[in-house]
Amino acid sequence: MKYYSTNKKAPVATLKKAVEKGLAEDRGLYMPETIKQLPESFFNHIDEMTFPEIAYTVAEAFFGEDVEPDSLKKIVYDTLSFECPVVSVSKDIYALELFHGPTLAFKDVGARFMARLLQYFIRQEGLGQVNVLVATSGDTGSAVANGFLGVEGIHVYVLYPKGKVSKIQESQFTTLGRNITALEIDGTFDDCQALVKNAFMDTQLNQHMILTSANSINVARFLPQAFYYFNAYARMKALGRADHIVVCVPSGNFGNITAGLFGQKMGLPIKRFIAANNANDIFYQYLKTGIYDPKPSKQTIANAMDVGDPSNFARIYDLFHGDHDEICKTISGYTFSDEQITEAMATCYQENGYILDPHGACGYRALKEGLQPGEIGVFCETAHPAKFKDTVEAIIGAKITIPERLAKFTKGKKQSTQMGKDFSEFKSFLLKE
Ligand SMILES: *Cc1c(COP(=O)(O)O)cnc(C)c1O
Repeated sequence: MKYYSTNKKAPVATLKKAVEKGLAEDRGLYMPETIKQLPESFFNHIDEMTFPEIAYTVAEAFFGEDVEPDSLKKIVYDTLSFECPVVSVSKDIYALELFHGPTLAFKDVGARFMARLLQYFIRQEGLGQVNVLVATSGDTGSAVANGFLGVEGIHVYVLYPKGKVSKIQESQFTTLGRNITALEIDGTFDDCQALVKNAFMDTQLNQHMILTSANSINVARFLPQAFYYFNAYARMKALGRADHIVVCVPSGNFGNITAGLFGQKMGLPIKRFIAANNANDIFYQYLKTGIYDPKPSKQTIANAMDVGDPSNFARIYDLFHGDHDEICKTISGYTFSDEQITEAMATCYQENGYILDPHGACGYRALKEGLQPGEIGVFCETAHPAKFKDTVEAIIGAKITIPERLAKFTKGKKQSTQMGKDFSEFKSFLLKE
């Protein structure tokens, strides 16, 4: 399979190149040239299949031309060592719990898959060490660091803003050691992102080392998230509730929802999508006006969605050939203030006894407001509520326990390198590596 750039000014790339580079030369995002339809027989029997079995069928459609079947199967099965159940929350509304992975974040699947696929290419081609740079405001860093931990031939540098990441999140990528280096930057998340972007564009650095990105711009990070939607459909079908499904995705960089849209193009019977936003409402405004107008991000309690220029918008635009009407037919949008998110968390707990995290709360509320008669709603619960323990407890007025998997990180010893936000300092650090 070849991959083209959404900016259409770079040569098409192989899967290997697309994964190794992350972003195309023209700063566009890579898209697969064809999206394969899956046969009706697959959808007829999908409810009898396990999550890894379903995922392998989907992975084969994307990556089957480029990865040996046995290796691809192993990559999929190694990635999916946990379940993503659908849980009934209230009448006609279900939570698709994506937080049962190693760092309790939905990004675990993409990060683990990408690490294994990259390792496959390194072994096959005898490449030298590949270096993954990732800027994080919390969740991406932990999922990527844990997904790549101990993977031979790859070194990960996590850049995070000093004092602006929760203690639990920080411990998830600073206590690992081995092939994971945490860089504590004296600046903001935007400064961290700028350092990473500058590194990708620096000729001298790129001659010195192989650099790639593990954000959802990378096809190997975002495409595997399509597995979730096929699995959700299968579990809903098993419950006899698979007709007229509306999928609602709390969105930041729009990688997760884009993966769902790919699933729909492959034939997955999802009636429509809802993108739920916090106060960062760029996509919501685009749906209303047809104008994409990026803004600096605003801080909210659903901080993994604080994105003012969602990178995967380019993929959605490309998928629908830039047709605003078509996009509006498939996706509708909601935007919620912190007060509305808080209210949704409190009411959902009182009425249903279900504990939402602030991100999932946007998804739940959008379905509450937007579901039409006859439709069944499934929203992605993207993070475990314990990750936002203090916020959640204060809102619902009850204690929540931290799962052992999360607690064990906080017992490790923090190892990080302090650094200013100046590119020259970062560059000379990398040149010495
Ligand atoms: C990353 C993240 C999101 C946003 O996902 P995108 O793919 O960037 O739209 C939502 N919720 C949580 C908890 C996340 O970590």
